[in-house]
Amino acid sequence: MSEERSLNFLEEIIEEDIATGKNGGGVYTRFPPEPNGYLHIGHAKSICLNFGLAQKYHGKTNLRFDDTNPETEDTEYVESIKEDVKWLGFQWEHELYASDYFEQLYQFAVKLIEQGLAYVDDSAPEEIAVQKGTPTEPGVASPYRTRSREENLDLFAAMREGKYQDGEKVLRAKIDMASPNMHMRDPIMYRIRHAHHHRTGDKWCIYPMYDFAHGQSDAIEQITHSFCTLEFIPHRPLYDWFIEKLDIFPSKQYEFARLNLNFTITSKRKLLQLVNVGFVDGWDDPRMPTISGLRRRGYTPASIRDFCDRIGVAKRENSIDMSLLEFCIREDLNKSAWRRMAVLDPIKLVITNYPEGKDDILVGENNPEIDGGEGSRQIPFSRELWIEREDFMEEPPKKFFRLGPGLKVRLKHAYIVECTDFVKDENGVVTEVHANYIPESKSGQDTSGINVKGTIHWVSVAHAKTAQVRLYDRLFHIEDPAGAGQDFTELLNPESLQVIPAVYIEPDLVSAEKGKGYQFIRKGYFSLDKDSTPENLVFNRTVTLKDAWAKEIKKG
Ligand code: ATP
Ligand code: MG
Repeated sequence: MSEERSLNFLEEIIEEDIATGKNGGGVYTRFPPEPNGYLHIGHAKSICLNFGLAQKYHGKTNLRFDDTNPETEDTEYVESIKEDVKWLGFQWEHELYASDYFEQLYQFAVKLIEQGLAYVDDSAPEEIAVQKGTPTEPGVASPYRTRSREENLDLFAAMREGKYQDGEKVLRAKIDMASPNMHMRDPIMYRIRHAHHHRTGDKWCIYPMYDFAHGQSDAIEQITHSFCTLEFIPHRPLYDWFIEKLDIFPSKQYEFARLNLNFTITSKRKLLQLVNVGFVDGWDDPRMPTISGLRRRGYTPASIRDFCDRIGVAKRENSIDMSLLEFCIREDLNKSAWRRMAVLDPIKLVITNYPEGKDDILVGENNPEIDGGEGSRQIPFSRELWIEREDFMEEPPKKFFRLGPGLKVRLKHAYIVECTDFVKDENGVVTEVHANYIPESKSGQDTSGINVKGTIHWVSVAHAKTAQVRLYDRLFHIEDPAGAGQDFTELLNPESLQVIPAVYIEPDLVSAEKGKGYQFIRKGYFSLDKDSTPENLVFNRTVTLKDAWAKEIKKG
């Protein structure tokens, strides 16, 4: 697919830079997560973009933790981020931390003070906000703006030494209080935070702001193309200003539209709220749009990369339909998942003309989408089978091609059976269906000459194993939970998880492997949950089958 499409605007920029020999024709990108939560599908887009573009143009990508907010960051998040990036199939050149640059950034700040381009401000945060003015009115200078270089150097050193309380002083860049761009009105470069940092411990009590850390980190690493989301467009003049005044490597920032996915939320802060309040079972709850949640749900790295490729990069915000993500996992699992049979809502089918106590071992290929079927497994067959309750109707309508009195159907990988009779309990509920099988109709060697329209799945009662099955639906019941103007936690879909404690599965599923996809024929794609043990199997439904029923009819 990617060969056919035309270049996106970021590829155009890179190709132009290579053609003009900018930065020696090199491409060096970085993925810069803040370790304050688990990565979500929006980050996957940024990962695929940063790593993907570098790969395409024979460049490199750094994984850089943007860890300048000590209060919210944690090593647990660092570990999960590394796992997720690797799982998606990417390898970084260097694992780096903005906090490793704290000394260097401090020296950069000193350099700006020496040039008369930064000053220590004692104004309170509210005063600074007022000084900034509004987008339509120019700001006013802080009374501390004219401090001497010497005084600023002394005060900044004293800030570092811990002489002041949080919020008592800040370091500001001296740019232009009348700039039409609010970010250029003497932005804050450093603030005081007496907080423990996940890497530097208590070494520092001043921390650089995003704008003074990000571009400088890019320059230190000689990043050529620094990709970020559209909300950073107004920060770009400041990004360039710091780099120019410090006369460091000329990294450049480019912006693309963030990924918004409907029926879910892509904000770490809000996802953290769901975790903390206990609306979900942790960051990797299979309903979460986190990479770890998608992985636990049964999504494959290839399906997520395919999704990111299909949505492409845009210069304008839009919202992507969740069904596209579901389409991508279906496409991938259709090709890779092994087919198995499981009965989720059982009713007993007794084949009255099949000898009691007799077993037959049938064979079913693992994957009919691949030549050779990727091998096969054995499926025991016997006189009593579990079938889905919905595959039998007492009074079937005309086009019901499954079981009902007098109707014939094929049992997948087995025989054609004809329904003869059924049994009801005292409440009128059907408890048993009776049928005769046609011995000459065995799959693969059918000489019966009988044609049936429907095929149903089944599991032999005597051989069935059981497993818990978890069926998921969308986490929110409305399209735009974040933009609905009300508390998003009140918009959760109450039916997003349905647990079936025990379903019947064919015996081969006992050896199912974690991380592998299985198609439960006609029921969807499933994979083992991390809670699963050999004694208590647990399967997650990754995604439903589209038109599952119609498809099976065609195959016969
Ligand atoms: P969040 O609001 O969820 O915390 P963030 O932007 O603060 O997201 P970071 O850890 O700073 O999270 O993000 C790392 C990188 O991922 C950044 O370059 C950011 O632009 C990018 N990114 C984050 N969310 C999205 C998204 N929805 N679509 C595309 N890129 C994203
Ligand atoms: Mg961020």
